[in-house]
Amino acid sequence: MKRYSALALLKAGLTGQRGWERAWRDPEPKKSYDIVIIGGGGHGLATAYYLAKVHGLRNIAVLEKGWIGGGNTGRNTTIVRSNYRQKPLHDLFDFALDLWEGMSDALNFNVMFSPRGALFLGHSDGDMTALAQRGDALRCDGIDAELLTRAQVQRLVPLLDMAPNARFPIHGGLIQRRGGTARHDAVAWGYARAADALGVDVIQNCEVTGFAMTGGRVSGVATTRGAIAAVASAFAWRAIAARSRRLRASSFRSKRTRYRPSSPSRSSR
Ligand SMILES: Cc1cc2nc3c(=O)[nH]c(=O)nc-3n(C[C@H](O)[C@H](O)[C@H](O)COP(=O)(O)OP(=O)(O)OC[C@H]3O[C@@H](n4cnc5c(N)ncnc54)[C@H](O)[C@@H]3O)c2cc1C
Repeated sequence: MKRYSALALLKAGLTGQRGWERAWRDPEPKKSYDIVIIGGGGHGLATAYYLAKVHGLRNIAVLEKGWIGGGNTGRNTTIVRSNYRQKPLHDLFDFALDLWEGMSDALNFNVMFSPRGALFLGHSDGDMTALAQRGDALRCDGIDAELLTRAQVQRLVPLLDMAPNARFPIHGGLIQRRGGTARHDAVAWGYARAADALGVDVIQNCEVTGFAMTGGRVSGVATTRGAIAAVASAFAWRAIAARSRRLRASSFRSKRTRYRPSSPSRSSR
């Protein structure tokens, strides 16, 4: 895989943009893979990449019925954050936020992650109470969350309509400063390119139309480009499961921050 860098960009710019190679191959589907992943969105491509990168599997296919990143991955609001409400989501999304922060470097692909902060507005006293509760729950788990007063929101985003008779009057907000935005379809491209470099076949225009079952288990798929067997051995799955347990134990950071409850009534002024 040709490494992307400022120097490579400069060189290509000075030589008529010649010499760029395909970001990923366009392989014909093989008859059989160890792992077949259906759907070339962020999840499918990331799964393929980490199975190859972390678990050492190589014989993997990602089957995409259209073009990669053409599903929800390519049409979402692009917000990146970990400020959800339940504990399991805190762990999962905070781990994901860590990934976002290092993703462009890890994939050698600019996913345009911009940690400019994710701000949620409260439009009533009830909203502010809910935001305060959410912020308290987040801080209990060591995730950054700050309840902002109306004046603080106005200072942060001067373009907002703060008039009391606005259609959605603003009472305050909850901000996660570590959150931000990323270009989600670039994530699909970045994972596809990095997975391809590790030997993963990313196959577009290949719709899965059915499953082959053997002994009650899925053993392959029917596609618009022929049947493909999926034959990962039980040994491979056990190895993946064991490594995942070890990764999980070491990944979820134990964060201890002092818990300070917020007061919605103070904040909404
Ligand atoms: C309007 C909107 C806004 C959103 N905003 C945000 C946001 O701000 N922040 C955020 O983090 N998340 C957001 N999300 C959620 C986020 O986009 C999804 O969680 C994420 O894209 C899901 O990725 P995925 O890979 O699971 O699915 P997708 O990206 O949808 O990928 C699934 C792929 O599977 C393919 N496929 C389907 N059936 C078959 C088949 N039979 N054979 C082969 N391929 C098939 C599809 O073509 C598609 O490419 C938003 C979603 C939407 C819809």
